[in-house]
This record gives sequence, C-alpha cells and structure tokens, in this order.
Amino acid sequence: MTVTLKVTVILNLKLMSWNERYEAVIGLEVHAQLLTDSKAFCSCSTKFGNEPNSNVCPVCLGMPGVLPVLNKNLVEFILKMGLATHCTVAPRSIFARKNYFYPDLPKGYQISQYEEPICANGYVEIELQDGSRKKIGITRIHMEEDAGKSIHDLDVDTLVDVNRCGVPLIEIVSEPDIRTPHEAYQYLYQMKQIVTYLGICDGNMEEGSLRCDANISVRLKGETALGTKTEVKNMNSFRFVEKALEFEINRQIALIEDGGKVVRNIIMGFRARNRRANALQRRSARLSLLSRSGSRARACR
Ligand SMILES: [Zn+2]
Repeated sequence: MTVTLKVTVILNLKLMSWNERYEAVIGLEVHAQLLTDSKAFCSCSTKFGNEPNSNVCPVCLGMPGVLPVLNKNLVEFILKMGLATHCTVAPRSIFARKNYFYPDLPKGYQISQYEEPICANGYVEIELQDGSRKKIGITRIHMEEDAGKSIHDLDVDTLVDVNRCGVPLIEIVSEPDIRTPHEAYQYLYQMKQIVTYLGICDGNMEEGSLRCDANISVRLKGETALGTKTEVKNMNSFRFVEKALEFEINRQIALIEDGGKVVRNIIMGFRARNRRANALQRRSARLSLLSRSGSRARACR
C-alpha cells in the first residue's frame, strides 16, 4: 500500500513537472453523419435498421454505367455548417475519387473532396477552464460518403451490409490549435452543439453519428517546430477522447524524457476501462503512409 502510494506520488510529481515544460499540439478530424433522407448521390434511403442490403441501388453499388447525382440537401447542410463556423465558401468546389479495396465498399472507391473543399478557413470559439474564450481554427469542411459495414460478431463468417454505402458525411478538420485534452473536449462539445442546433446531424457519438480522430504531438514550451505526431482513431465518446489524449500526451512525454523518439503511429481504438490506448494495434509510420487513405476510411465507420 505504502509502496503503491509512493510510486503514485512520484509519478504525479513527475507529470506535474513535465506538464510545466511541455505542451501538446492537437488537431481533430470530426466526421458527422448527416440527417438527409436519401444518400449523397442516389435516392436510396439512409434509414438505419432496415433489412441488410435493402437500401441499395446500382448507383451506390457502383455498377457500370451509373451516374451519381449530388443530393441538394447535402450541399445545403454543409453550407449551414460552414457559415456557422465562419468558413469561406468556395465559389467552385470539386469531388475526388479515393480508391479502396474493402469488402464492404463494393464500388471500390469513395467520393470525397481533396483539393477544393467547399468550406475552409473558419473557426469556433471554446470556453476555457478560467472562463476565457479561445478560437480554434477550422482548416476545411468537406463532403464525402460513408462505406458499408462488415459484421464479424455473428456465429458465422463475416457478413457484409452495404446499406450505409453512400450515406452522406461531412469531415471537419481543425487547425492544430488545441493544447489540452480539456480543450479537445470543449471543441467537440461545441461541434455537437452546432450540428444539433442546425439540425444537420443528431450528434450522437456513441452511435457513430459523430466520430473523432486526433493528431497529437508534444514539444517543449517555447519551441515553434512541431514534434512527430501520432494519430488516435475511432474514439466514440467525449470522455474517451479526453482520456485517450491524456494517455497519449503523457506517453509521448515519458518517451522523450527517457531519451526515446516518438514514431509516427496510428492507434486504433481506446480502452476506456484501463485508460490505455490499444497498443496492440499500433502501426508503423511506413504502413500508415502506405495505407493512409484506407485508414481514413476505416476511421469513418
Ligand atoms: Zn443507392
């Protein structure tokens, strides 16, 4: 008991001294599933819970010769979001095709935006613990479509439900302006408030309507260069985000203090119960670069 207490006290003192010398640099990518009645490029229903593979058509299955037609409501919803977050709306905006090789994406690509997103250069304001307000920059908000779902937990081989293929999403990318897990929490809370107020997304993180990935690095206070970042993906609750960031920041600082180097990693998932990131699923920087687009799509699920 005494030993545990001593170790805890020493660790806490260590963390306090680190926190005085280091700062974290955090950027968040938030995916919001939109409340349109039909999919992004066809008239299939977006209704959740229908018979598997019933909300599909040649367009969202990517059959040869089909022509995707953009859902007007998707554009209206993202414009609302862009205006609510002080973004500039591009007079011209284009879609891009991102190719994937996944069983739950039969058409083999996702329609997304890359070079010319429809909304960019905005901000939201969050409230800090001392009551002051801080602006968090929004780099871009773009339109894209979701993939289907592989179901592994039934007592048979993996099953595929493609009802979600083509369901509209917006991706909101922040500037790396967030410095603490609490600020990240406040930013996400603000996002949820905005999308639910606008009526464009139900904001439910637990059910996956709002999903969050984070890029995290640390550096000594006063330094301007960015440290090597890691990515934590698939966080599905506000508290998990806060805890996962706390864990990852402390892990990176401890590593640097021990003379090590942060390696560019992707960390999939986070175990809230024991408050540690799922190290089993860390992947190397090389792999992350090779499969970056694929990982991003996975994160949208
Ligand atoms: Zn369809």
